[in-house]
Amino acid sequence: MATEVSDCLFCRIVAGEIPADVVHRSDRVVAFRDVAPQAPVHVLLVPTEHHENAAVLASADAQATAELVTVAALVADAEGLDGHYRLVFNTGTGAGQSVFHTHLHLLGGRSMTWPPG
Ligand code: AMP
Repeated sequence: MATEVSDCLFCRIVAGEIPADVVHRSDRVVAFRDVAPQAPVHVLLVPTEHHENAAVLASADAQATAELVTVAALVADAEGLDGHYRLVFNTGTGAGQSVFHTHLHLLGGRSMTWPPG
């Protein structure tokens, strides 16, 4: 049973209250395309339960945390990324987190530089 926070954007996408381009859905994880893509493929993977960030999710639900990564690999394959992609958890405003429901960014389809901005 998903914990839902009524004013959380990603809880509302998980619940189907706000439209999104969903590419994968399971009991624990929903994946949908980022509305402002930073790469040809930019998908967000979110746990169906509300947790503020990746560390909080990992403490509460190790299985859902692992599933974010395994589903990301499935989506990357389905998108034809051929094993070349980047996974990012922004944690805290200083690191660029703007939505406080754990989400894993899957980025691919172009060459990437390091360090990230
Ligand atoms: P972050 O800045 O790491 O918290 O990432 C939040 C991401 O959510 C950003 O990349 C936004 O472009 C994306 N985003 C915001 N609103 C939506 C939406 N309604 N549907 C899909 N992606 C969204």
